[in-house]
Amino acid sequence: MFIEPNFGSKHTSKKNETGWIEIICGSMFSGKTEELIRRLNRAKIANLKVEIFKPATETRFHVENVVSHDRKEIRSTPVQFANDILLLASDCDLVGIDEAQFFDEEIVDVSIKLANTGKRVIIAGLDMDYMARPFEPMNDLMAVAEFVTKTHAICMKCGSIASYTFRFNDSGKQVFLGEKDIYEARCRRCYNLGMKEKKKKR
Ligand code: ZN
Repeated sequence: MFIEPNFGSKHTSKKNETGWIEIICGSMFSGKTEELIRRLNRAKIANLKVEIFKPATETRFHVENVVSHDRKEIRSTPVQFANDILLLASDCDLVGIDEAQFFDEEIVDVSIKLANTGKRVIIAGLDMDYMARPFEPMNDLMAVAEFVTKTHAICMKCGSIASYTFRFNDSGKQVFLGEKDIYEARCRRCYNLGMKEKKKKR
């Protein structure tokens, strides 16, 4: 489990504070959002000012709340552009960003700027797309972060540890919103077997 480093307390004077970036990434159904909510809730209980943002395109369950698959929720603000976060988060101690893979490359600069002004920035998102390619801009965010946590799901085929997201639907589009009807968490072996089968069918 991730334990917060003692980088200077957020409760002491602003002058002594340093910011940093944390990434929570993994496949679908790996508990990324649950982990984000866990970290944010603990900071909230400590009376820190917390804001959560997510891309306006991500409306899977509810427009204004970040909701994880197990229905824990936390209030959040949908934003159109990554840059909007800079203005909206100006007076908070801790900034949460969910589904970061749906933001454009600008999110990298935005995250750096937030951390440089002493904020703790926690970003959750998919590390790979359905073709097992690095999901931009998550790979760049991982490079500039102080901490990277990979969450894992359980392979829905064999029960091993899963880090791939297998998609049944093959529209060719990188982004295709869906849940267990279209996506499955799979281990490396079962993911590769599935991709071979898909090729044969074509
Ligand atoms: Zn498997």
